[in-house]
Amino acid sequence: MTEQDKNPVRLDGNLHLCSYKATNKRIHGFRMETNKQSNFIRDIIEKDIASGKHDQVVTRFPPEPNGYLHIGHAKSICLNFGVAGDYGGRCHLRFDDTNPKKEEPEYVRSIMDDVQWLGFDWGEHLYHASDYFDQLYEYGVELIKRGKAYVCSLSPLEIREYRGTLTEPGTNSPFRDRSLEENLEYFGAMKEGRFGEGAHVLRAKIDMSSPNINLRDPVLFRIVRSDHHRTKDAWHIYPTYDYAHCLSDSIEGITHSLCSLEFQDHRPLYDWILDQLHVRCHPRQIEFARLNLNYTVMSKRKLAKLVSRGLVRSWDDPRMPTLSGLRRRGYTPQSIRRFCDIIGVAKSDNVVDMSMLEHCIREDLNKTAPRVMAVLNPVKLVITNYPREREDKLEAINNPEDESMGKRMVPFSRELYIERDDFMEEPPKKFYRLAPGREVRLRYAYYVTCHGVVKDPSTNEITEIHCTYDPETKGGDSPDGRKVKATLHWVSAGHAQKAEVRLYDRLFSRPNPTEDEKKGIDFLEYVNPDSLNIPDACFIEPGLKDLAPGTNLQFERLGYFCVDPDTKPGKPVFNRTVTLKDAWARIQKKAGKN
Ligand code: ATP
Ligand code: MG
Repeated sequence: MTEQDKNPVRLDGNLHLCSYKATNKRIHGFRMETNKQSNFIRDIIEKDIASGKHDQVVTRFPPEPNGYLHIGHAKSICLNFGVAGDYGGRCHLRFDDTNPKKEEPEYVRSIMDDVQWLGFDWGEHLYHASDYFDQLYEYGVELIKRGKAYVCSLSPLEIREYRGTLTEPGTNSPFRDRSLEENLEYFGAMKEGRFGEGAHVLRAKIDMSSPNINLRDPVLFRIVRSDHHRTKDAWHIYPTYDYAHCLSDSIEGITHSLCSLEFQDHRPLYDWILDQLHVRCHPRQIEFARLNLNYTVMSKRKLAKLVSRGLVRSWDDPRMPTLSGLRRRGYTPQSIRRFCDIIGVAKSDNVVDMSMLEHCIREDLNKTAPRVMAVLNPVKLVITNYPREREDKLEAINNPEDESMGKRMVPFSRELYIERDDFMEEPPKKFYRLAPGREVRLRYAYYVTCHGVVKDPSTNEITEIHCTYDPETKGGDSPDGRKVKATLHWVSAGHAQKAEVRLYDRLFSRPNPTEDEKKGIDFLEYVNPDSLNIPDACFIEPGLKDLAPGTNLQFERLGYFCVDPDTKPGKPVFNRTVTLKDAWARIQKKAGKN
């Protein structure tokens, strides 16, 4: 072990802890917000800086604008922008816009919004693969001239057949030995739009018997007769991902090209293309494990299917794992960055439990979200010894975790709403809430004792719960030290504001919705039909009716909620971000990790 390895590495005046290892212990580390956990990518970067290989770190986040970003992309964004920021470098946002058939300006806009919302800034380094189309074409000509690429006129189906399989080598294309002049002529004619789609492609001349299928003369350019959202009808040929990606990285002077594990087998091709062209900048591709979350899917193509089939309302439906969906649901950028910190960066795929993501938003909102009262499944509670015309204003604490958030006054009157679930006529053993003859506390208000109920004679449903209150217990404490076992939230019926509250469950009913795809069962079969529930009549404190969309709140005892953009004046709409129970923290505690 060198001195460098033993000690924290100091770069640009920043202290970097390099002793954090990827074990379960990391779970403890998430408490320390400022700790950047070391991982194998940071180790590589630190070595490259220490050895003088690079004096600046340049990374990029390269989304294809064919859908909205999801939480998996957040992992890549946090990693790419995170390491660049920590080592005094820069991170580019580059749109990998090489497939005009699937890409749209709407997706470009949403991606830029989401990256900014997460808290990252690409400064002036906004690029597009399409910025380089001329140069990529010239590189294609160069490869032909070096005898490293040829125009192949097999049909797409034939190309696939000639490619061979994992166990059988491929077969050379009959066009592999076209003359240099012929290749140049065809490639030029492809560019000029003289052929239809599928007539010809430009292929790398590598090795049709390579055990790595990616090296069996991969396609570099194909003919696509579609307008591009930026270059319009200027191009009739478009580079493939593998070809455009390494060269865009090289053109931009990327030092470390971080991508997910499925590109590992493409790395030899990444290196081959750059080697053949003798480029000055040859970035190092490093692969890391994709984020997988249970009970959801993490692919733009699959998410697009949910949208187009109408199984969710839109890309930003609060049930979606998209960043815009999570934002609408009430997730904060801090909570998502925190989540990305906790999950860390490793080399092998695994599935992260959704409860970990939920833990991160609870942890954040616990500190910042004002507490208020709302009743989602109301039943009327009448305080029979409280005068009809009287009205109290009671003091309520906005956030017991943060005194600086102050207090507010909440109206109280003879008729209130409480949760129907908080009352039972014949309570079983461990039910401590309201029941006939029992006394409970109304939050910030008084002790009340139930002495009767009124029922709808036709349905036998309880319509009113009758109680008396003890005026001596104002504020919620009894001067004689009398204890109660439950505290209920409530709203004053005459003052309450009606609201629409959207309650969400998992989007899929299975932890792995794609597990039966091989058996021919589509993931859409496992969409949870009960993932959205909107109770009939919800009531909130009167002070909450004019909140701006995006405002986070805690409805006491019910969870964290966020004002939805569907809110109209006088018609507030809330999404439940997450309930209050923290399954993940409980599991950690049980395992002695917290
Ligand atoms: P999708 O299948 O959702 O479209 P993708 O990999 O095709 O994913 P890109 O737009 O190409 O989407 O992704 C941009 C970057 O984000 C890539 O570098 C990719 O490796 C990374 N990325 C995508 N999904 C994940 C994930 N689940 N976890 C970590 N990184 C991801
Ligand atoms: Mg992709």
